[in-house]
Amino acid sequence: MLQLVDVHRTYLIGESTVQALRGVSVTIEQGEFVAIMGASGSGKSSLLQILGLLDTPDKGEYLLLGHNVNSMTEDEQAGLRNKVAGFVFQQFHLLKRMNIVDNVRLPHIYSGIKGDFRKEAIERLALVGLEHRIDHTPNQLSGGEQQRVAIARALIRDPLIIFADEPTGNLDTKNSAEIMKILKALHEEGKTVIMVTHETEIAAYAGRVITMRDGLIVSDERKSGMEPSVNVGAELTFEGQVAGKVSLWQNGRISGFMQQAFQAILANKLRSFLSVLGIFVGVASVIAMMALGEGAKSAMQEQLKSMGSNMLSIRGGSAKIRGAAQGAGAVARFTFTDVDDISALRPFVKNASGVVNGAGRIVYGNKNWSSSLNGVGFDYGTMRASLPTVGRWFTREEIQTRDKVAIIGVTVVKELFGGSNPIGRTIKINRINFKVIGIAPAKGFSGPQDEDDVVIIPVTTAMYRVLGKEYLSGIFVEVTSPTLIDQAKNAISEQIRKRHRLKADDDSFNIRDMTEIQKMLSSTTQTMSLLLGSIAAISLVVGGIGIMNIMLVSVTERTREIGLRKAIGARKGDIMLQFLVESVGMTISGGLIGVLAGIGISLILSFFAGWAVKTSLISVVLATAFSAIIGIFFGLWPARKAAELKPVEALRYE
Ligand code: ADP
Ligand code: MG
Repeated sequence: MLQLVDVHRTYLIGESTVQALRGVSVTIEQGEFVAIMGASGSGKSSLLQILGLLDTPDKGEYLLLGHNVNSMTEDEQAGLRNKVAGFVFQQFHLLKRMNIVDNVRLPHIYSGIKGDFRKEAIERLALVGLEHRIDHTPNQLSGGEQQRVAIARALIRDPLIIFADEPTGNLDTKNSAEIMKILKALHEEGKTVIMVTHETEIAAYAGRVITMRDGLIVSDERKSGMEPSVNVGAELTFEGQVAGKVSLWQNGRISGFMQQAFQAILANKLRSFLSVLGIFVGVASVIAMMALGEGAKSAMQEQLKSMGSNMLSIRGGSAKIRGAAQGAGAVARFTFTDVDDISALRPFVKNASGVVNGAGRIVYGNKNWSSSLNGVGFDYGTMRASLPTVGRWFTREEIQTRDKVAIIGVTVVKELFGGSNPIGRTIKINRINFKVIGIAPAKGFSGPQDEDDVVIIPVTTAMYRVLGKEYLSGIFVEVTSPTLIDQAKNAISEQIRKRHRLKADDDSFNIRDMTEIQKMLSSTTQTMSLLLGSIAAISLVVGGIGIMNIMLVSVTERTREIGLRKAIGARKGDIMLQFLVESVGMTISGGLIGVLAGIGISLILSFFAGWAVKTSLISVVLATAFSAIIGIFFGLWPARKAAELKPVEALRYE
């Protein structure tokens, strides 16, 4: 069944080489119980490792069921180990953080077979007489009991061959006898057992004793009366032993890995907590500060909106010489068509309203007063926050039919009406009768100009009835958002130039934004988010380095665990995925707790300090995603390092 032909194995230690095997040829039949004996250093373990596919020979052939296995890839060999071989080591190699049932069913994580295998694990434990200890961890068991658990683990996949390297090396005579009884029973049931030992009493259990010296077989004796046990399914083929291709994502393997990772993280609670702390602090501060920044921003925006900040004013004439014409054609003349065109400029423009300005002589009773006269469109009221608090705004019909209705500012009210209510009264504007329908909300002074000394009438009435103008004085535009001001300006200029057939350098009109505030605002918020971003980046990177550090320590510390996992069939990808899941699990949990803490902090700030905060979903999503990415990025190197380890070397690691 197993056949080695002239196998050599040489180890390189720095400059020097050790020839552990120098031409071993041996054939082992199915159902044999073989003991490999010899002095320490004679190459017994090297031979067993090659037979068990944990190592590959430098030279020579290894045929398993007639199939050359040297040419198989590492992962294929791992799959074969999982199916065909059960290992029992001198040091037991149980994972201390899990109970013995979990230890026994561990090989099934790598088998690609669905199921939880608890029942099977308990059955195997019953075979070795430990069914009453299932909730115990390895530390609670004696050496002999631990080795029995290891045997149960070797049996979970019903392997063809049991490989045992000094299985009794760490045990006293009584426990040794127990273990040997179990191995003998397994042999009698038809298992092939290959065992390394240097004790004659132990070798006496075997039916065949191979003795080695200096990397060569010096004797090979079969005991009569201990023929190979007859195997039930005698017709074995290699193909029948090769497990189907196991995909990483198949059959809930990820959840299996997540369970493993969870156990590993919990096994080192304090250390995991400390390494997650960096991510936690980073994410919490980012969330809290973003909430603060967003809160401040939206509070400011709210305020600016009431001032009409995302407002553009389009006027004829160049910006430098305001209002003054510089020769013929230098002033663009706007009509309602322009207004319609501009208000159609989605998504930049929300509203547009034409205005005409003029002076008005206003008379009420025996009082008269000069004021500025604004003819405005329907949307102007909402755009510039001029909707009357007392009385009402114009209707669209009033604007259409050039109705003589007026809304007056509080200064005008004071001058003409004193304390009495002006609503419903009739005033004369430039000798035309108007009905007062509302009082514009008080706005105070803007520079030297009294914003409340104003009379607002429909733009059509102003143009055709009062001022006698055929063109608009300007157009007010409300931009959808303060951040779009510049784009809106460009779109509008282009539109106007196209319609009025102006050249690119023609400055017969100008567009001004109402204030420079939004520029200041956007630059402050930009600085703020830049600052927050860099704090986030720094703390997350620091946190990530912490995670990487822990993972590297963890890889070194758990080298033997990795070796064991490989021995029982873990492929490179499996090991890598396990460590990645661990690091991502840590960063994500840190990130999620950080998100909660961040939200908590911002709530506390808004509650006690009265600061405006606004937690945005995007910051939560970003922070969580970012911590996952950090986990992958900083976990990748340690995970690769772990995955690259050779099973034999990892197992020997002290
Ligand atoms: P045994 O199991 O019979 O004691 P081994 O097969 O473990 O012997 O080792 C045979 C020889 O190869 C020894 O001299 C040992 O030092 C050497 N050797 C075994 N494994 C390694 C290794 N991974 N690196 C270097 N030398 C090794
Ligand atoms: Mg050895």
